[in-house]
Amino acid sequence: MQIKQHTIASSAAFSGVGLHGGKPVEMRLLPAPDNYGIVFQRTDLGNEVFVHPLVEHVSHTRRSTEFAENGVKVRTAEHLLAALRSLGVDNVLVQLDAPEVPILDGSALPYVTALGRCGLLEQKADRIYRRVKRHAEYRDPKSGSFVTVDPCDELVVDLTIDFKSPMVGRQQASYDDTVDFVSQIAPCRTFCFYREIALMRFFGLIKGGSLDNALVIDDRKRCILGGKTLQFDNELARHKLLDLLGDFALAGAPVLGRITAYKPGHKTNTQALQYFINEAVL
Ligand SMILES: [Zn+2]
Repeated sequence: MQIKQHTIASSAAFSGVGLHGGKPVEMRLLPAPDNYGIVFQRTDLGNEVFVHPLVEHVSHTRRSTEFAENGVKVRTAEHLLAALRSLGVDNVLVQLDAPEVPILDGSALPYVTALGRCGLLEQKADRIYRRVKRHAEYRDPKSGSFVTVDPCDELVVDLTIDFKSPMVGRQQASYDDTVDFVSQIAPCRTFCFYREIALMRFFGLIKGGSLDNALVIDDRKRCILGGKTLQFDNELARHKLLDLLGDFALAGAPVLGRITAYKPGHKTNTQALQYFINEAVL
């Protein structure tokens, strides 16, 4: 049976700060018509300033994914995009009054909670997928990261992270139709290492970062700052899986295929996706 497109049945609003820019931001999700897609509107720049979250618009991938259209940027939308795609929202207008999506608690849980309250509305048009047509792989020789794709009738992700950190090390996470995104993936929080913070601040990143929106791992003291504990043994791998789902949402349509990722990051994810589209794999 052909699955129909869906939008949200009512609107949702969020207030917060951008993780990297640190600016306050108000965000609204509004229902949108058939075949509209997921579209961002920068209301702070006027009523006609729209940005489409597509991989060809990716402009920056340092610690988050940024895309830009006609010089207008939207940043750190990956957790929201993962939530929208995973819950089956095809058409939605995302209004923002700043360049960055609110980080909230660093996970996608606030988004899936709000989307659950909105409910979904079935529309008339059929959902259109981007199917993986054949095996392909993208490798980043510098980092050793890679992403491979294979044909599959559902979206399956197998992901491995491997950090030089005794607190993290090698972890694996998987996703398929049997995994409940809302309870198993969405709650997994952004993380960073305490040793990286000074350098990230030097580069003007994480101005809105705090212990309320990120897990900060201190390898030297063998702890997570602020007395935080993990929700899952592999929460960090699951967060990277959330990021990958958000980055692959930039395909412009839901992807069907098996994705295997080793040491993924926003740069590798988006470069791999662009390569697969250029090579007509997707
Ligand atoms: Zn993330």
